[in-house]
Amino acid sequence: MAARIIDGKAIAAELRGKVADAAHRLARDRSLVPGLAVVLVGANPASEVYVANKTKATIGSGMRSYDHRLPETASEAELVALIGRLNADPVVHGILLQLPLPDHIDAQKVIAAIDPRKDVDGLTPENFGLLSAGLPALAACTPLGCVILAKSVTRSLEGLEAVIIGRSNLVGKPLAQLLLNENATVTVAHSKSKDLAAICRRGDLLFAAVGRPEMVKGHWIKPGATVVDVGVTRLPGQGGKVSIVGDIAFREASQVAGAITPVPGGVGPMTIACLLANTVRAACGLAGLPAPSFHLGIDAPADNVYGRD
Ligand code: NAP
Repeated sequence: MAARIIDGKAIAAELRGKVADAAHRLARDRSLVPGLAVVLVGANPASEVYVANKTKATIGSGMRSYDHRLPETASEAELVALIGRLNADPVVHGILLQLPLPDHIDAQKVIAAIDPRKDVDGLTPENFGLLSAGLPALAACTPLGCVILAKSVTRSLEGLEAVIIGRSNLVGKPLAQLLLNENATVTVAHSKSKDLAAICRRGDLLFAAVGRPEMVKGHWIKPGATVVDVGVTRLPGQGGKVSIVGDIAFREASQVAGAITPVPGGVGPMTIACLLANTVRAACGLAGLPAPSFHLGIDAPADNVYGRD
């Protein structure tokens, strides 16, 4: 039987609606307009598209967007200095450093310069540590989106076997922490893992974050599993068009899985929605207000008025 398609666009639209409501209430009641600064170094075409989408979504949710574009030749010191100015700027509540950075810049040094309270991508060592300790943190947007998508199928992930392929700081590792916080039993596979197909077949939940088009075949999937495809690879398509392909061989996988995300239209829209949610949460945190949870599966204070739904 064909799997249920998890509609990331619709779920993201719902979350963005909640975020826009919270932003509206903050502006009305507290004269606080959340602001997101996006920093882009160089002219990577894929990054340009992401930044344009993020800017549009931020403004569309009633928040302010500040784009900072540096040339490919910008130095690490210039970038760290810009981050310092954004840290000190009271109208900026979230800072998103678009990755990857040019090779001559040490991304970890620049990330470490971001004020953890404005780290809406959850990449600073402080937020990583808080998340690992199961404490309230600004968590990485793509993993947050993955958990929300999985929970749209199975409300509680408790006790489920979750398999993640990929261990990057951006996706795999924070996703593992979020799933542990949901009481799932988590396995993280990577390029050195042996018999990946057998590992994947254990997963009631399977998350693929590799960047290898259609690597995960139908017979790797446990019948009825929930499959979330993070991978995005741009391949030349017909007539000079570009086609976007995930890590999962969608057609065969959807004959085995119980539910599956499409690419595009799955994780991608959720990443942006979670970025907006994190920006509102950061603005609340900086203003000393309770941070809304938006039902992201993390901290949810009972007296929260800015994320109530
Ligand atoms: P990354 O930093 O390159 O990490 C890739 C991971 O995949 C690594 O842990 C690597 O293992 C593992 N891997 C590579 N080849 C493998 C193989 N043959 N078998 C098993 N594991 C293998 O990539 P990333 O930043 O996590 O992104 C992963 C994918 O998600 C990319 O396609 C990216 O474009 C996409 N992405 C999408 C969104 C979105 O919003 N939709 C957001 C972020 C990323 P090692 O650690 O051993 O090298």
